[in-house]
Amino acid sequence: MAYDFDLYVIGAGSGGVRAARFAAGFGARVAVAESRYLGGTCVNVGCVPKKLLVYGAHYAEDFEQASAYGWTAGEASFDWATLIANKDQEINRLNGIYRNLLVNSGVALHEGHAKITGPHEVEINGQRHTAEHILVATGGWPVIPQIPGREHAISSNEAFFLKELPKRVLVVGGGYIAVEFAGIFHGMGAQTSLLYRGELFLRGFDAAVRKHLAEELTRRGLDLQFNADIQRIDKQADGSLEVTLKDGRTLMTDCVFYATGRRPMLDNLGLENTAVALDEKGFVKVNEKYETTEPSILAIGDVIGRVQLTPVALAEGMAVARRLFKPEQYRLVDYRMIPTAVFSLPNIGTVGLTEEQAREEGHEVQIFESRFRPMKLSLTDCQERTLMKLVVDARTDKVLGCHMVGPDAGEIVQGLAIALKAGASKRDFDETIGVHPTAAEEFVTMRTPAA
Ligand code: FAD
Ligand code: NDP
Repeated sequence: MAYDFDLYVIGAGSGGVRAARFAAGFGARVAVAESRYLGGTCVNVGCVPKKLLVYGAHYAEDFEQASAYGWTAGEASFDWATLIANKDQEINRLNGIYRNLLVNSGVALHEGHAKITGPHEVEINGQRHTAEHILVATGGWPVIPQIPGREHAISSNEAFFLKELPKRVLVVGGGYIAVEFAGIFHGMGAQTSLLYRGELFLRGFDAAVRKHLAEELTRRGLDLQFNADIQRIDKQADGSLEVTLKDGRTLMTDCVFYATGRRPMLDNLGLENTAVALDEKGFVKVNEKYETTEPSILAIGDVIGRVQLTPVALAEGMAVARRLFKPEQYRLVDYRMIPTAVFSLPNIGTVGLTEEQAREEGHEVQIFESRFRPMKLSLTDCQERTLMKLVVDARTDKVLGCHMVGPDAGEIVQGLAIALKAGASKRDFDETIGVHPTAAEEFVTMRTPAA
């Protein structure tokens, strides 16, 4: 049968755009549908605007510390509306770039909500299109638990467009988004509390990293409340919110921000018209080639719920395009050694195994750890400390994991990720000459294992 397209991609986010562009570049006839915003979550309500807000929040400490370096400036003040307007302008520019990228690579762009009407058919804006392969790259959506008063809470989707900076904010959750936004609100001057239901936030990160960040955030004045969860939210006559916790305490705030994970975006997608199955958590089930249980339909990115990061969605999109249309260049995506950063203030950067994971996997582990005051702070009163940690296999000398909490941790860990991917040993680290004076050189000068 002759199809209208070789590949029909649903979702012009990180993974969908990558797959569409490369498939078209390999000579395939490709269409991409987008219902909301070009560039998807990352560009519009994710990585990019988040990083801009983190930069904005960081100025608070720059102003504070500048006087120790001889600078005198007027009293610093912050205007949320200016930052949001400038951020919106930048995102508009990026939307335009994404449009050009798609159109210039020969992809047909269909703007509207796409619904799958059969294994090879998609309906959008009242028109039906057939395709040999359909790629579901529809991403995810924030989840706010079903508690009384949840309609008064916001998620990251709304946070990027708040008209004003709330005076008081309660951030709920202990993952990436909660920690990053708590830092943003706090840095901009809102009285901020982070509520997490467990003992210590950032489950899955190295224990030393989690503890160190908790200490640093507390030192900065961020109110961290662990073993705390909300039972209900009641709006008061003056617009403020009364929050009742499960332990019976009440807190008053102006904004409750939920960052309690994301579900796959499958709304009105028409999967019931296909044999596509979901996994036990509700994400689209795929094999290692991103094939769903419906042979003509593939899925990548957040909607498959593996690793919800933009570079991973990009790699998966690339793998699909290559396997279908350039098989000689096809390689499986390697999910080991994925570096990642939490853009908290200070940042976390991490790659490889945590100490806990290494021990669980049966490695005989050697730990190298360093804590120091960053040189930039030496003239200031700021007592912030950086943490660097290496997890090494004592038998093979291989470096299994690198972890850092401190300024630019994400930037530093990207380079280390290449070394770990290439199988670097601790001896390779030791024989690498440092860049002086930097914080990063500490990673090649740690000599004595921790007791
Ligand atoms: P998305 O980028 O979500 O794209 C899916 C697209 O599909 C959307 O544009 C949507 O509108 C469209 N769509 C959905 N259904 C339909 C339909 N039926 N018809 C047509 N179009 C449809 N990752 C990082 O690596 N670094 C970060 O710093 C980072 N920060 C983040 C901060 C926040 C606040 C959030 C929420 C996420 C962040 N992420 C970050 C995660 C990252 O944004 C995602 O992993 C990434 O965007 C996933 O890409 P995707 O292609 O799977 O989906
Ligand atoms: P995460 O899955 O990272 O964290 C969710 C948090 O919410 C966890 O602390 C979890 O607790 C808690 N939680 C879950 N359900 C409830 C509930 N019902 N009540 C109270 N707390 C609850 O999700 P995020 O929303 O923070 O982010 C989604 C994903 O987006 C991330 O996992 C990451 O992949 C990606 N992202 C990446 C960023 C980056 O690269 N810098 C930045 C932002 C997002 P528990 O641990 O106890 O389960």
